[in-house]
Amino acid sequence: MKPNPTTTDGWTADAEQALLERVERLVDEEIGPRANAVGRSDEFAWESFRALCREGIIATAFPVQYGGTEAPLRLRVRIVERIARVCSAAASMVTGTDLAGRPIAAAAPEALARAIVPRLATGELQSAFALTDRQAGSDVAGLATTARRDGDGYLLNGVKRYITRAPVADTFIVVARLEGVPGAKALCALLVDRDTPGLEVGPTQAKMGFIGSPCAEVFLRDARVSADRLLGAEGEGFAIAQDTLIRARIGHGAMAVGRAQGALEIAAQYATRRSTFGKRIGEHQGVQWMLGEMTAQVEAARCLVRSSADRYDRRDPETAVYASMAKLFATDLGMRVTTDCLQLLGGNGYLKDAPLERFMRDAKLNQIGEGTSEIHKTVIGRHVVRQAAGMRHPCLDLEGLGL
Ligand SMILES: Cc1cc2nc3c(=O)[nH]c(=O)nc-3n(C[C@H](O)[C@H](O)[C@H](O)COP(=O)(O)OP(=O)(O)OC[C@H]3O[C@@H](n4cnc5c(N)ncnc54)[C@H](O)[C@@H]3O)c2cc1C
Repeated sequence: MKPNPTTTDGWTADAEQALLERVERLVDEEIGPRANAVGRSDEFAWESFRALCREGIIATAFPVQYGGTEAPLRLRVRIVERIARVCSAAASMVTGTDLAGRPIAAAAPEALARAIVPRLATGELQSAFALTDRQAGSDVAGLATTARRDGDGYLLNGVKRYITRAPVADTFIVVARLEGVPGAKALCALLVDRDTPGLEVGPTQAKMGFIGSPCAEVFLRDARVSADRLLGAEGEGFAIAQDTLIRARIGHGAMAVGRAQGALEIAAQYATRRSTFGKRIGEHQGVQWMLGEMTAQVEAARCLVRSSADRYDRRDPETAVYASMAKLFATDLGMRVTTDCLQLLGGNGYLKDAPLERFMRDAKLNQIGEGTSEIHKTVIGRHVVRQAAGMRHPCLDLEGLGL
């Protein structure tokens, strides 16, 4: 694999501020007003995507040498938060570009990267990241999609499942198990074009939320890919997926924070207008406590997501476990906050015309994608136990306890 292409230095505070102001304008004038309509039909939200390309937001995922403007992750999470405040589908276009684009910039052979990445940065091409298959999601080591060596290339077989953007993607990063190679060295990542014979995209899978960001199964039946489409080396598929997933997990956290912030704003504004028992509902102490507690919790989640992004940018070796913490905390909180904010709108909250039922449906996916909450608890807990094995609290006398 090439070195991680992240360079965080080219961005001044003024440049970051200017970009965030552009994002806010885009959210207020285009993505926000369109969001309810986007949420009604699971077609890829092209208008939002083109607006993100036009404003140079998609390009921030990619290194400068391939035509991007590579933004540090600390800036990208702020972008994602602002967009998710109104529209999950549009926010997922920013995080999805990261997930399905950066591995190509980081690990494709130079000629391939030069041919494809600049076109991903402008939005002329779209890629999708195909890790999960019918047999395995959480348990990546259990992937059943295979890559069999065949002359100077590979034959791919398997069924990838829930692949975001598959209905519109031009090319797919397929993670597969190398046939005949045991253990961790078995995974490899290959770039497979949509028109490859043997690759077929299934119908759009009907789903609960993130409407406007469609997903589908991808069938691979003896799909032949030449060896120069291998990302990194054989056996590096797991490492490529890991770096990609760390960023994606922090991105899920940012989406959850942004959406929760949007839900809080909607609920608080509603509470200033709706009256019960002779006063505005926002004047009831019970409602104020709910809003106060949720606001404090969302701020805590925001801090955790942003500090995890900072860790990623400075290549802290513990970033992975902090990314798990950020995803777990922010996405579980996002589910609670969107549910409770909907509650504050009473019956109106349950109607499609008020956006909180959309926010609540969208919140669920952040607890599942890129590692479920249960998996992240396991990752964090395992880390805690490993660390504890080498530590001794000054007040704890283990020998005195007979241990
Ligand atoms: C809308 C959508 C879009 C997606 N987009 C993509 C995409 O673009 N690319 C891609 O590759 N994948 C994508 N995914 C797949 C997603 O990442 C997986 O669904 C997720 O990782 C969970 O895997 P699974 O569905 O196979 O669940 P499973 O792994 O089968 O887990 C089922 C349940 O068991 C629990 N569980 C499993 N193992 C343990 C354990 N050890 N301890 C405790 N509990 C456990 C899980 O937490 C979960 O509750 C998408 C999924 C959805 C729904």
